[in-house]
Amino acid sequence: MHIVVDNYPEELSVKTADYNLILHTVSTHNVLPLTSACNFDCIFCSHKYNPPGLKVFTLPYLAKDRYNEMIDFLDPHQRVVVGESSTRIIEGEPFCRKDALDILEMIRERHPDTPITLTTNGSLIGRNEIDRLALLMPLEVNLSVNFLSDRARRMFLDDTGGSSMYRTIELLGEYGIPYNGSIVALGVDGWERELEKAVSYLESHGARTLRVFHPGYTRFCRDDRCKMDYLYLSGTVEKIAAQVALPVLLEPPNITGSEPLVGGVISGTPAQAAGFKKGDLIVRVDEAEAVSRVDAFKKILRAENPLVDIVRNGDEHRLRLNKGKGQSSGLVFNYDIDPEQMGAVLRAVSRSKACRPAVVTGEMAYPRIKKYLQGSCSAVAVIKSSNRFFGGNIGCAGLMVVDDIINSLEASPVKADLILVPSVAFDHRGDDLTGRNCREIEEAAGAKVQVI
Ligand code: SF4
Repeated sequence: MHIVVDNYPEELSVKTADYNLILHTVSTHNVLPLTSACNFDCIFCSHKYNPPGLKVFTLPYLAKDRYNEMIDFLDPHQRVVVGESSTRIIEGEPFCRKDALDILEMIRERHPDTPITLTTNGSLIGRNEIDRLALLMPLEVNLSVNFLSDRARRMFLDDTGGSSMYRTIELLGEYGIPYNGSIVALGVDGWERELEKAVSYLESHGARTLRVFHPGYTRFCRDDRCKMDYLYLSGTVEKIAAQVALPVLLEPPNITGSEPLVGGVISGTPAQAAGFKKGDLIVRVDEAEAVSRVDAFKKILRAENPLVDIVRNGDEHRLRLNKGKGQSSGLVFNYDIDPEQMGAVLRAVSRSKACRPAVVTGEMAYPRIKKYLQGSCSAVAVIKSSNRFFGGNIGCAGLMVVDDIINSLEASPVKADLILVPSVAFDHRGDDLTGRNCREIEEAAGAKVQVI
């Protein structure tokens, strides 16, 4: 078994998370970390190409009893996340812990109705594990499929354990466990054929969705196989998605506007029964205008049996979605703009009475945020911050650091008196991923900074 935590270049000097940080992660993100170890060594694994100076942590071994206490810190009213690298604690493969299922059962015992999302590479799951997972509903599995063929899995994931991704998919389908597939695109011969094979296998074995990730790489990645032309990939995914009913979505999505277009419809759901189709434009939900995909998604999720007005091929239609409050509709949307976040931006600007407010965003969200704010408050400048710290093709706001923001402010002709920076880039103390505080931006720019 490979232990990814042992594979880090020495200069990264990755530290072990202390228990306070672990409890803080659990309580603020509703993430229950199980292990930083992994039995694979994927060529695209982001943990391997982090720049020195990054403050991320590995999880120490915590005895099962400790999880009783950690589960106390979970919010039972929110989805519990296991196995996803969404915090500063590196997540590996949950089933590298032999008692992973015991811990999942502890969560279920304490919180019988709380949805759990489990991300796994699926290689350590056989019929015995699936038997137990099937008793943990409501549960959704995010399965990192990447490749189906054993040869490609050995070559690109270092999957040498003799497991079969075909078998894992078959078992999930047989037991009716809701699951989504994910695939990281690679610039290697035959990759498109592998994608087609995976799409058709997942579709015929009950997958809900498939997400295809454009590989993200930092300036430290020397492996050209992780580099793929985004527009080429976007065209490939679009062509394959048009041939199947399974919602196949590209991450990050190739969208600039925020028109609430349906990205896909999950089969066997209220949305499919109501007659929704991919490409429908959501206009209103229970008479309230939908202003973005995220807005449409949230309005529909919160509503009970909503009436949804759509435009399809230029004609307006009204569809009734038979679903409960908070129940998923089965409509799939790409992430674009959250009007609630934009509302927080506008409220902060109006409270501050600033004359020249500015919002700093990552490269990826910049066109959408600019377009949205131009429509609602043209007085707010939008400044794009390039990610020099990570470099490569990294462009998301969550990986921006203080230095990146200071550089972008210095290069911008806008001299703002209020600078709004995204909260995803900072922890609860206002520290970025390198440990530098957002107050340093204030000193450098000579303007008030607010994390939002
Ligand atoms: S399965 Fe995930 S954590 Fe493990 S090596 Fe691959 S990308 Fe990294």
